[in-house]
Amino acid sequence: MPSWCSAQLPSDPRVVLTFPVELPTNTSASEVEQWLSASGFTKVQAEREVATPTGPRKVLDVVADRFRLKNAEKVRVIEAIETALKRGAGRLNVYAPKEEAAPRPDAEPPQGGASPSGAFDLWRYSTGLHCPDSDRRYADPIPSAFSFNSAVGACEVCRGFGRVIGVDYNLVIPNDKLTLRAGAIKPMQTPAWQECQDDLMRHAEIAGIPRDTPWSKLTPEQKHWVINGTPSYKEGQWGKQWYGVKRFFAYLESKALQNAHPVMLSKYRSYTPCETCGGARLKLESLLWRIGSKDLADSVLSPTKRFMPAGCKVEPGNSEALPGLCLHDLMQLPIDKLRHFFGRIDAPADTR
Ligand SMILES: [Zn+2]
Repeated sequence: MPSWCSAQLPSDPRVVLTFPVELPTNTSASEVEQWLSASGFTKVQAEREVATPTGPRKVLDVVADRFRLKNAEKVRVIEAIETALKRGAGRLNVYAPKEEAAPRPDAEPPQGGASPSGAFDLWRYSTGLHCPDSDRRYADPIPSAFSFNSAVGACEVCRGFGRVIGVDYNLVIPNDKLTLRAGAIKPMQTPAWQECQDDLMRHAEIAGIPRDTPWSKLTPEQKHWVINGTPSYKEGQWGKQWYGVKRFFAYLESKALQNAHPVMLSKYRSYTPCETCGGARLKLESLLWRIGSKDLADSVLSPTKRFMPAGCKVEPGNSEALPGLCLHDLMQLPIDKLRHFFGRIDAPADTR
């Protein structure tokens, strides 16, 4: 073990304040030693490799200070915290021996071989709008982030419109009393696309999808099969597997064909809600911001009716416990509830 690597023994009950330093993966032990002596630090608590957008990087948890919690001087602790946050670009990792301190409820075991015996709890902290556990950093909020008329805030898929032009399946299957055999899938009933109707009939028989049952009586799984094709469909297997109505339209929309079938396409397309923003018009990051307390939010909108942005992973039930409302919730409120809400908001005055 190199001299700078000082993974503490479990018998040492001191808390270790460290800050992370990122170095290239191929940094050698002697280069680390050189870096340490040049920066005025001597020990590394743990070393791990992390994935970054530019490839894997070596991360060292460099020791800023270590002390016993019970008799540590406040001034010394503050100085160590400030040093660690400054040198670690706002990040601080505390290795707390399990016998020294009761573990924090959200404490995680050290990762990447940080502790040889699991004798430490790792407490991660960071400054600013940054999650120390996921390492996700959020931009400071600016007014344009909350406007769908601005490129900063607008959903990138629908460009702030909330809807996109897409295949409207109410137009594709306008009569749900028709069976597949009788022509439920309207665009495949012209002589030009008879071949596709034949494909559907042939594959439906093999897959056990009823061909003589009205569309409205098919199960959701059977409808899904017709629209999305065989679940195991492999691209290019047109003749061998059912490709689905969705791929039929994707084919028509492909560059080579979109000029050949403009009327056909326009007949079955309409504005449909944007799946990326769920019609909220804003980027996910803008929709993550919330305003107000839980009580205030509850007084104007039932917790079960709150908007949860697509891509926001919150356990069911936990989302209802979140405080405040997001901008899309506010946009849906009637004026009297908005007045009630903003009349009770305790927002700091804008001092600019
Ligand atoms: Zn959108």
